[in-house]
Amino acid sequence: MDCAKYLELLSDYCDGTLDDETRALVQMHLGECLPCDGILHDLDTIVRTAVILRSETNSITYPDEQIIWQRLSLSKQIIH
Ligand SMILES: [Zn+2]
Repeated sequence: MDCAKYLELLSDYCDGTLDDETRALVQMHLGECLPCDGILHDLDTIVRTAVILRSETNSITYPDEQIIWQRLSLSKQIIH
């Protein structure tokens, strides 16, 4: 199981920009890998929260993308 490979794809998976074949592979991995599935949920929550914060505040820029990538690299270290 190559979690690091799939974690790199999760961001695109959330955005829905993966091709069908790759998305199916990611889905299959998420179905059998609890840590990666948990990270997807985290990522999804962060992205949703960031969108809400942006729409509520308008003028303030939160470093949300940076937080996401920090969390992802932390997760990678844990899984490795
Ligand atoms: Zn995994």
